[in-house]
Amino acid sequence: QKYTEQDIRQMVQDNQVEFLRLMFTDINGIIKNVEVPIDQLDKVLANKVTLDGSSIDGFVRIEESDMLLYPDLNTWLIFPWGSEHGKVARLICDIHMADGTEFAGDPRNNLRRIVREMQDAGFTSFNIGPEPEFFLFKMDDKGQPTLNLNDNGGYFDFEPVDLGENCRRDIVLELEKMGFEVEASHHEVAPGQHEIDFKYADAIEAADNIQTFKVVVKTVARKHGLHATFMPKPLEGINGSGMHVNMSLFKNKDNVFYDQNTKNGLSQTSMYFLAGLLDHAIGMTAINNPTVNSYKRLVPGFEAPVYVAWSGKNRSPLIRVPSARGAGTRLEMRSVDPTANPYLTIAAILHSGLEGIKAAQLPVAPVNRNIYTMDETERHQNKIYDLPATLHNAIQALKQDDVVRKSMGEHLYKSFIDSRELEWAAYCQTVSQWERDQYLKRF
Ligand code: ADP
Ligand code: MG
Ligand code: MG
Ligand code: MG
Ligand code: MG
Repeated sequence: QKYTEQDIRQMVQDNQVEFLRLMFTDINGIIKNVEVPIDQLDKVLANKVTLDGSSIDGFVRIEESDMLLYPDLNTWLIFPWGSEHGKVARLICDIHMADGTEFAGDPRNNLRRIVREMQDAGFTSFNIGPEPEFFLFKMDDKGQPTLNLNDNGGYFDFEPVDLGENCRRDIVLELEKMGFEVEASHHEVAPGQHEIDFKYADAIEAADNIQTFKVVVKTVARKHGLHATFMPKPLEGINGSGMHVNMSLFKNKDNVFYDQNTKNGLSQTSMYFLAGLLDHAIGMTAINNPTVNSYKRLVPGFEAPVYVAWSGKNRSPLIRVPSARGAGTRLEMRSVDPTANPYLTIAAILHSGLEGIKAAQLPVAPVNRNIYTMDETERHQNKIYDLPATLHNAIQALKQDDVVRKSMGEHLYKSFIDSRELEWAAYCQTVSQWERDQYLKRF
């Protein structure tokens, strides 16, 4: 436990905190806030702030709408940007039922359930290092986002043309004030696109960090007159935004993915875990890539994976084993994009990996060739299968995968499927400009 109630009361006083933002995440990964004035602190700390669950996507039916916010004191932080009304602090909360029991439809509670499963299997932490990418677009006079990029820079571009660089530097500074350890920040391949990498953390903290990161990026960008978006593919013809997920299992101080006695330094456990990930990669795609637009990124030619395969040599497959060994030994899942609910994604990955360890089967052979030059027959001979190409296919694949379903629990599974099917149905009702351009004159 990082902070006690007493610490929090002290920090409120010392920093003149005036408002408290109680944060949680709905099923679609959207961050929700209940903001209370600081005179409600006693109520907050006593877990007595209520929430109307029926107003939140995927939570509960109207008959049972009264829910409680249980703040996680370890997530306390004061936002570094001021407000004329005083400082704002936040606490991330778990959602409980009116009778005090954990609410199963809360993605954060659910991830804690999977973490307990990991502890029962004898491991102490699941370290996650995310690499979120985002675009910065100019805003118009009315403060609405445009599709005009703020620069023409490219990967690792140091030219003055990179106007987004100031904004990104500011984002990094604010993150550091909030306790993030930023390891790298750079311009991405596409113009206007950026990546900021922060140090890995254990499952729940990592998911919390991802959510906090998004708030900081959007807030700081707005101050620069820019709109930051984590939409996976905002522009055609250039790379989309992913969120590679680096992962490793630890037993106390030891990275159990590492084994100095094997030829490649990878432990048997890591190979079993990898086999579990490959087995359920298709089933968990709806979780990792939950929007219609996610599938516009998962196409050939833009550095995003399209097939289920792994490699320790090239950087393009679904799962890569980066060359670091020792404490840095890890697997990197490259399909995930930043619209994923990080609590659900980490739960699905961890549960699938643990199932792999239980099954104790080695994965198929790595693919060190360019998959994109193989034809379908050759791919199937090498046991390389396609990731779902649409949200619809991904939902169908999730319905076929009991392991991934168990990683969510029934409540979350049902509301997730409902929510994704609604989105797909809404999309199917639309007719795009591309279709009019293709067909209006031709037929
Ligand atoms: P890439 O080479 O794919 O661009 P980056 O260097 O951008 O990778 O990001 C690497 C990420 O992996 C960082 O978030 C880092 O903290 C994380 N990482 C390093 N070691 C581990 C580990 N053992 N387990 C999980 N994540 C790790
Ligand atoms: Mg990177
Ligand atoms: Mg890097
Ligand atoms: Mg990148
Ligand atoms: Mg990466």
